[in-house]
Amino acid sequence: MKVITAETAGFCFGVERAVNTVYEAIEHEDVAIYTYGPIIHNESVVNELKERGVSIISTPEELKALDGGCVIIRSHGVTREIYSILKEKGLKYIDATCPFVLKIHNLVEEASARGEHIVIAGDRTHPEVEGILSFAYDRVTVLKNEEEAAAFSPGDDEKLFLVSQTTFNSNIFNKIVEIFDERRYDYNTVYTICNATALRQKETAELAGRVDAMIVIGGAHSSNTRKLYDIASSICKHTIYVQTLDDLVSRLDDFCNPASCVGITAGASTPKNIIEEVQNYVRRFWTDAG
Ligand code: SF4
Repeated sequence: MKVITAETAGFCFGVERAVNTVYEAIEHEDVAIYTYGPIIHNESVVNELKERGVSIISTPEELKALDGGCVIIRSHGVTREIYSILKEKGLKYIDATCPFVLKIHNLVEEASARGEHIVIAGDRTHPEVEGILSFAYDRVTVLKNEEEAAAFSPGDDEKLFLVSQTTFNSNIFNKIVEIFDERRYDYNTVYTICNATALRQKETAELAGRVDAMIVIGGAHSSNTRKLYDIASSICKHTIYVQTLDDLVSRLDDFCNPASCVGITAGASTPKNIIEEVQNYVRRFWTDAG
C-alpha cells in the first residue's frame, strides 16, 4: 500500500487566518465571542469552539438582538447589511474576511458605481456569493455554469463586469468567458478564483490520474471540497468523500486493496489533524489487518 497526500491538502491561508482569529479572541477578549455563521465548514472544529464558549449567529435578526460581545466575520465575508447592523448597534467586531474576498467586494462596488452590470460566476446560495452580490448597487446576475451563461441575455447597451466566487471551477469559468467572447459582449473581467483553490484543484487532478483510489476529506457543506471530489471522481473511479476518519473506517476495503496506491486530498477547511489521522489509518490498515 502506497499513500500519497497532496501537498496542498487542508487549510488555506484565509481559513487558517479566520480560525486563528477566533482562538486569539478566546484568549484576549473578555466578552462573549460570536461568529457570524460557522467559522469553517468543519463540524469537529465548530464543536470544539462551541465547548470553549463561541456561539454562532445565523441571521441578521439574531445579530440585531445582541447587546454586546465580539462578533467575528468568517473568511467568506458577509453582506453589506450585516456590516450596517454591526455599525448601527455599535457592536465590536473583528473582520476575518479573506483579503481575496474583500478584493471582490471592492471590485464589484466600484464597477457597480460605474453603472456596469455585475456578473458573478458562482453558486448564488453560497454565503460568499451572497456577500459579493450585496456590494452591487443595481444590475447583478449570478451564473453557475455554462448552460446559464448561454441562456443569459444582457441588454444591447450594457457593459458587463465579470468576477467569480473564489472557489469556482476554473474550467467552467473559462467556458463562460468563451461564451462572452463568442457573443462579443462588452465586458471587463478580473480573474478572482483563488490561487489556493486552483493549486488544490490542479494537484488533485494530477494525483487522481496516478493513483488507484482517492480519498477526499472535508466538511459536508464545503463547496471547495465538493469540487475536489467532482474533479477526482471524474478521473479516478475509486474516489470517496469522507468528513472524518469514522466515515472511512467501514469503507476502506470496499474501494482499495493492499496493492493499491491511494491518494489523499482535503478541502481548505479540513484541519491538519484529521488529514493525519486518515493518512496514518490508511497506512496502517492493511498491515494491522494482515
Ligand atoms: S480559498 Fe482562497 S479566497 Fe477562500 S478563504 Fe482560502 S485563501 Fe481566501
